[in-house]
Amino acid sequence: MSNIVAIVGRPNVGKSTLFNRLLQKRQAIVDDVSGVTRDRHYGKSDWNGKEFSVIDTGGYIIGSDDSFEAEIRKQVELAVDEANVILFMVDNQVGLTEMDKEVAQLLRKSKKPVLLVVNKVDSNKNLDDSYEFYNLGFEQFFTISSMTGSGTGELLDEVISHFEDTEFIDPFEGLPRVTIVGRPNAGKSTLTNALLGEERNIVTDIAGTTRDTIETHYNKFGQEFVLIDTAGIRKKGKVSEDLEFYSVMRAIRSIEDSDVCVLMVDATRGLEAQDLNILFLAERNRKGVIIVINKWDLVEKETNTMKEFEAEIRNKIAPFTDVPIVFTSAITKQRVHKLVEVIMEVNENRNRRIKTSQLNELMLPIIEVSPPPAIKGKYIKIKYVTQLPTRTPQFAFFANLPQYVKEPYKRFIENQLRKHFNFTGVPIDVYFRQK
Ligand code: GDP
Ligand code: GDP
Repeated sequence: MSNIVAIVGRPNVGKSTLFNRLLQKRQAIVDDVSGVTRDRHYGKSDWNGKEFSVIDTGGYIIGSDDSFEAEIRKQVELAVDEANVILFMVDNQVGLTEMDKEVAQLLRKSKKPVLLVVNKVDSNKNLDDSYEFYNLGFEQFFTISSMTGSGTGELLDEVISHFEDTEFIDPFEGLPRVTIVGRPNAGKSTLTNALLGEERNIVTDIAGTTRDTIETHYNKFGQEFVLIDTAGIRKKGKVSEDLEFYSVMRAIRSIEDSDVCVLMVDATRGLEAQDLNILFLAERNRKGVIIVINKWDLVEKETNTMKEFEAEIRNKIAPFTDVPIVFTSAITKQRVHKLVEVIMEVNENRNRRIKTSQLNELMLPIIEVSPPPAIKGKYIKIKYVTQLPTRTPQFAFFANLPQYVKEPYKRFIENQLRKHFNFTGVPIDVYFRQK
């Protein structure tokens, strides 16, 4: 289970500075995921071996037409809904403001742990100024400098102490975890109902966790998986921009918690930029991926309609094109069972382990015939290949000069692996290492 840390606070207190520091050297996973802003506001970090996601909620809200107050309120709501730990940031240089008090007021209602973070304490001589923040009513606060990083270690120690115990007993241990993501109205609930029918009522709400996801056991015709359904946290009465935004946050969270993501696309709209972002997110998280083109009943068809549709989609999702595409009508249940089969297959592919002997027998002759191009008169010799004991397929090729192997050759190798073994729907990694 992933843990999410949200940073809230009024503008200019230093939220994005802290965010960037936490993500140091790590790439933000999503660019422009919601279309609300051009900046990057979601990414992964870790502390003492515990991985977590960070959201700079401030960055998401900027650009809406709301008043300042409404924006802050949304920020806080978002953090309270989505995060496991909330960092409430204030600015030591400016001191306590009315808006800080309002944010504190909103956060007090939250049942989630809220840590008060006094930022811009760049040196000890600023420390005395921070005492006024006791007025916000928190028992303790953390003084940090996002700019220099001082104090962030202690803060992170506290943050990770609030994480959900990942050792909790999962009643569905070992079953593939599947999530259905996609834009509002793509047909996700209809598909969920088609899959689960009445059984949807027999939900297992994992108690003791802070998340509102519903996990349902699908077990029919010998096929078993857990459907992660985040619909429970759907917000009512939200304007469309917010709805979009919440759906993105839900998607992020459920993707992180799953093994296989079913990306649902409305056939009458086609694959849009936002769908590509979700796909990219799943790929970067090394999840299995299936694209479902739903509402196929609404499309006027000629002989090649499906083929053409499929070609257009593969074109858009390049270079990761080895992805199953299933055309469904959730409403009539057309190909819903087929989809279940594809889910099981992709999960199997993601867990595929190829014996070292088999890999070498197959790949070394291919490499012999098409070796990496020599660079500056130096020949690259690949001697040995093995699949790494990782959770998703990763391959290490041992060579004398691994640093000279370039991207196109890596892609060639990946394509060869895909050609000879079934990794459809699964991102794979290819590394070249020193022999
Ligand atoms: P946000 O609007 O809350 O995301 O705030 P930013 O991260 O954009 O920071 C606002 C301004 O405060 C920027 O000019 C930062 O360089 C500055 N800033 C952020 N953290 C610190 C800090 O720890 N010390 C000082 N002196 N300035 C900081
Ligand atoms: P969600 O927001 O992704 O959960 O989408 P819903 O499942 O609520 O579906 C949105 C609308 O599309 C509803 O009116 C559904 O009845 C309709 N819908 C869903 N799947 C299909 C389909 O396969 N064909 C048609 N014609 N309509 C569908």
